[in-house]
Amino acid sequence: MLAKGTSNKTLQILQAAEQDGYGVLAAIAYNVEHVTALVRAAESSRSPLILQLFPSTLKQLPSLVYAASAACKSASVPISLHLDHAQDEDQIRHVVDTMPFDSIMVDMSHHEHHENLQKTKELTRLCHQKGIAVEAESGRINGGEEGIADTGDLEALFTSPEEVEEFLGAEVDLLAPSIGNVHGDYPPAGPQLDFDRLKRIRQQINGRVRIALHGTNDFSEELTKECIAAGTTKFNVNKLLLECWNEFLKHNSHLSIVQLIDQGIDILQKETERWMEVCGSAGRCVT
Ligand SMILES: [Zn+2]
Repeated sequence: MLAKGTSNKTLQILQAAEQDGYGVLAAIAYNVEHVTALVRAAESSRSPLILQLFPSTLKQLPSLVYAASAACKSASVPISLHLDHAQDEDQIRHVVDTMPFDSIMVDMSHHEHHENLQKTKELTRLCHQKGIAVEAESGRINGGEEGIADTGDLEALFTSPEEVEEFLGAEVDLLAPSIGNVHGDYPPAGPQLDFDRLKRIRQQINGRVRIALHGTNDFSEELTKECIAAGTTKFNVNKLLLECWNEFLKHNSHLSIVQLIDQGIDILQKETERWMEVCGSAGRCVT
């Protein structure tokens, strides 16, 4: 683990959130319009933010990481840059050597358990040498979403107490537990989360690392607040925010490109501001 009192931006943002009992959006951006809207929302709400890119986006739009990094650094509120679900060891090594990320989710969950732990520990140490914080997934969160591979036939595995200790032993800074959350859309009954398990995980962790929640499509405001009250500080969002952007584009193809960009950014900014209120992060950055 990176030391307490670290200058790592992701950890500073999440430590402040844990101390004061609120959550921080960790929002996926697929393009520069998303980056712009998310950063504007953070500034207008005086809220911290974690901006997330998928590894596939680094290949698709190689310059976006630099635009996103510049937007984070020039913002008037704390915003960190995070690489979500990095599953390729070679790419992780390349990213660590060459790109300006504050934190990386080292996701080796497609490997067998002991290999997963061993690879996670090795890559975590590599990240830490560069001051980059590391998130890992304990258990296995099922499903897939735009930009990350589906877990296919692999079975969802809920996080056990043993796994919590094993991943802490791999020296990670953030843990993403599997408590019934899934990537992608939920079945008609909606999310069925095991809150008792989440509370026990939080007790067991006892402030040693921060908790990240993945798989938040279809979450209500109430469920989001419940997850944050149960100890989640990093609240990953993708479609929960971006659906308004997708819908806007779908229904407004008659507009000019400039209008689409301007109005699309406005709509996504407002939706992000709403969720920053829900998470309790709005108004936390007073200076
Ligand atoms: Zn995820």
